Amino acid sequence: MSNPSILILPGDGIGPEVMDQVTRIIDWFGAKRDLAFDVSTDLVGGAAYDAHGTPLHDDTMAKAQEVDAVLLGAVGGPKYDDLDFSVKPERGLLRLRKEMDLYANLRPAQCFDALADFSSLKKDIVAGLDIMIVRELTSGVYFGEPRGIFEEGNERVGINTQRYTESEIERAARSAFELAMRRNKKVCSMEKANVMESGILWREVVTKVCEEYPEVELSHMYADNGAMQLVRAPKQFDVIVTDNLFGDILSDCAAMLTGSLGMLPSASLGAPMANGRPKAMYEPVHGSAPDIAGQGKANPIACMLSFAMALRYSFDQGDEAARLEAAIEKVLADGARTGDLMGPEGGTPLSTTEMGDVILAALDASL
Ligand code: NAD
Repeated sequence: MSNPSILILPGDGIGPEVMDQVTRIIDWFGAKRDLAFDVSTDLVGGAAYDAHGTPLHDDTMAKAQEVDAVLLGAVGGPKYDDLDFSVKPERGLLRLRKEMDLYANLRPAQCFDALADFSSLKKDIVAGLDIMIVRELTSGVYFGEPRGIFEEGNERVGINTQRYTESEIERAARSAFELAMRRNKKVCSMEKANVMESGILWREVVTKVCEEYPEVELSHMYADNGAMQLVRAPKQFDVIVTDNLFGDILSDCAAMLTGSLGMLPSASLGAPMANGRPKAMYEPVHGSAPDIAGQGKANPIACMLSFAMALRYSFDQGDEAARLEAAIEKVLADGARTGDLMGPEGGTPLSTTEMGDVILAALDASL
């Protein structure tokens, strides 16, 4: 049987720097855990625009549709700010999400004990936090029609439409229940059923899908209360499932519970392919960080944790994902820090490559 395939799209700015460290991790799993991948690399974002005049070449798009998982670094940068909207680096990312139909965006908010002081909340509220937000990514108010700015009488009116079909809600809900089955078997669904019909339908459909998962405990919460609960007592949650708009806001809110942008991974999943694996793209939440690009200062951990998600959700290697996460937790507990993780006590930050070195050493020590 052939090895599982990964397409790496490093992108722009710090994207290639952090992805270099992930490549070392991938090689380690091949050499030490008999877990080899067929890896190919291609261009996306500004790098693709420079080479081809488009932020995503059709050949790259076709490759992304064929592989078992796409790993993306980051796109964008000041050099591309004045480009026409249609060829901006971000369009490459949006095209991948759209054409792969990645409808479930998974954003874990996990707080490593060693970094609990970085949270804006009190340490005991966030230490040990491990929640997952599933955001519906391809529908809702960002896509619904009619939309636009229209003349109405003697003034203009701006219109966006929140629209969800039952099947769109159902597939997002199913992703959340499947995830909960691998975790603590709790799902909290968030909407505004008190004031929005789409919220009433959302609640009905999620409740119906839950009948297929009798072991999962389902609760419902209005999204505004959800935002309050996330900052009041975030550890009450396991998996949260919500729509595109509320998910956009709630996942950023949850992200900040954990401290640095350089630590946050994400996954976007679509329908199962013929081999049973979901269409999938894994990427750190952070951008291309032009302010530190090319200086060897970037924290590669968000990108590494994104690969850990790929091990778990695309390749069914939960134990190996946990091995990588434990190695990261170990080096942080031992005090390893890139510049973004330096506290007021100071010290000498590790470079991107040095952080890769200590994590690889911790992986070796795990054998
Ligand atoms: P950013 O995430 O790139 O950076 C915000 C701040 O966080 C910066 O100070 C940066 O140095 C720091 N930072 C981010 N990642 C880090 C890491 N791994 N290690 C250490 N520090 C890190 O956001 P921005 O500055 O708003 O955007 C910069 C560019 O990235 C823009 O062109 C934007 O459009 C693009 N962007 C891309 C994505 C993506 O590719 N998914 C996401 C967000 C922004």
